[in-house]
Amino acid sequence: MQQLLSEAQISEGIARLAAEIESFYDGHRKLTIIGVMTGSVVLLADLIRRLPRTIRVGLVQARSYRGASTTPGALTIRADMLPDVRNRDVLVVDDIFDTGQTLFELFLELDELGPASVRSLVLLRKQGRSKVPIEPDHVGFDIPDRFVVGYGLDFEDAYRNLPYVAALDDAELAAGPPP
Ligand code: 5GP
Ligand code: MG
Repeated sequence: MQQLLSEAQISEGIARLAAEIESFYDGHRKLTIIGVMTGSVVLLADLIRRLPRTIRVGLVQARSYRGASTTPGALTIRADMLPDVRNRDVLVVDDIFDTGQTLFELFLELDELGPASVRSLVLLRKQGRSKVPIEPDHVGFDIPDRFVVGYGLDFEDAYRNLPYVAALDDAELAAGPPP
């Protein structure tokens, strides 16, 4: 396992993202932040504690990955935990932008609910993988095309609780997650 981002680097990145959000929404517009479960929960918790304004927080579940597969399966979106987003400014928060399929499909679903605006924030963006015509609006870090874990990202449930981000190599992926 190779560490890509230390706790200190992540913390700096989140402070930077929070400052971007504060200046974009300029402290007046009421913001609804939607975390994409489960990978975004660590990021979500750290990000919202850096935002001084009143925010609404909601969650949505989107699952496309099984294990370390790099080809996304069919995407299932469970939106029943979403707060009412009609006429709201919505910021979708996810752990990583890989092919972009998850954010793209979520945006299509959210658009039907009549929000005032929808933007996105991700901690990580993988280089050269996007298959969709959108880019995330706020990006913490660009990373190489490797399978990463930690800070919310798991490998079959393992490593989600690591405080840093690390890449697994092919042998580690082939060996499977620790028991
Ligand atoms: P996308 O729809 O952009 O291809 O993939 C987004 C989702 O796939 C992320 O929210 C995350 O759950 C999962 N994913 C993509 N790349 C990785 C990775 O390197 N490691 C882990 N653990 N999950 C990933
Ligand atoms: Mg995810």
